[in-house]
Amino acid sequence: MGQTARTVGFQSGERNVFFHILTACNLSCKHCYINPDQHGTMRVSREDMEAWMGLFADKEKKTNLIFLGGEPTLHPDLVHGILKAKELGFAVTVDSNGYLFHDFLERVTPEQLDYLSFSLDGPDSTVNDPIRGEGVFEICTRNLRRAVRRGFNVSVIYTVSSRNIDHLERMVPLLAQIGVKRFFIQVIGLRGKSAGPDTGEGGAEKAEPWQVSREQWLAVVPEVARKAAENGIHVTYPKVFLDQDERFECAGLVAENYFIFPNGRVYRCPLCEDHPFNSLCIEGGRLVTNAGLTEDNFFRLTIPEGCVMNRLLQPDNISYDQDGHPEFRISCCLLKQEIKRG
Ligand code: SF4
Ligand code: SF4
Repeated sequence: MGQTARTVGFQSGERNVFFHILTACNLSCKHCYINPDQHGTMRVSREDMEAWMGLFADKEKKTNLIFLGGEPTLHPDLVHGILKAKELGFAVTVDSNGYLFHDFLERVTPEQLDYLSFSLDGPDSTVNDPIRGEGVFEICTRNLRRAVRRGFNVSVIYTVSSRNIDHLERMVPLLAQIGVKRFFIQVIGLRGKSAGPDTGEGGAEKAEPWQVSREQWLAVVPEVARKAAENGIHVTYPKVFLDQDERFECAGLVAENYFIFPNGRVYRCPLCEDHPFNSLCIEGGRLVTNAGLTEDNFFRLTIPEGCVMNRLLQPDNISYDQDGHPEFRISCCLLKQEIKRG
């Protein structure tokens, strides 16, 4: 059977609402992106959860709502939120670290929950646990198997870094054996040609950086995706580098993505989440557009490097030729490639 990797453009009319209902978590992964200074330590109350989802509900448009944290299953009202979200017409996903608190699998059915995603960063405990914590692989995979047995539509998210890129390939037999049909590969951040141990003053080596190089990424990820597809697994991974003939588009202009945090901040671009650049916020139960300089002001800027926020906030993945021109444009971080058995 044939298969091709294809770039998944931003679907017109498709909307994604990423709802961080709390920032608390039982784990402390080494690469955790949660930032309590920017997003608070509170959790969204049951009442606000309902009201805030209502602000984004639109039965005319297909809208995915993804419950995130922290660890969303720590929230005692998550199941209530899922049922409410279905009533409002959302397709609902829960992204969990695999601990599934509050008897989660016993309290929802596969009919009520469209997708259940598990984060796993290695094909065994020796790779996963140094990143996510001791004993996490065992608990996560046990619950993954339980969820598959109960008929949930499960997927796995793997965040590629220098700590685990060499083990990505071994995820394929593991996922096939467990019966996972969807695999999301994410990237922790890519560096340009300078990838390798940071060298401090006098050439002393600092700790190994987490990022992988463009060369490593391209050498490993598309090939693993191809193998996974051969095994009947549908794989999605970030495009990162645009081909010469591909058009650059900023999701902030051509797609509807909302990243909601418990302190009421709402971002349109995930790269901005560590900064108070959010273009929207929820205040007094209303969705308000922020005045002043926000992420919105950057979406329209056209630069030869592609994504403006990438250029401003994480330019390590850009490389330039001798004339100072970027060798590749960086795509929107929300642009994906996907590969499945054709
Ligand atoms: S499970 Fe997620 S939220 Fe929790 S520590 Fe790990 S990365 Fe952070
Ligand atoms: S990642 Fe870049 S291209 Fe994508 S929404 Fe943000 S600014 Fe736009």
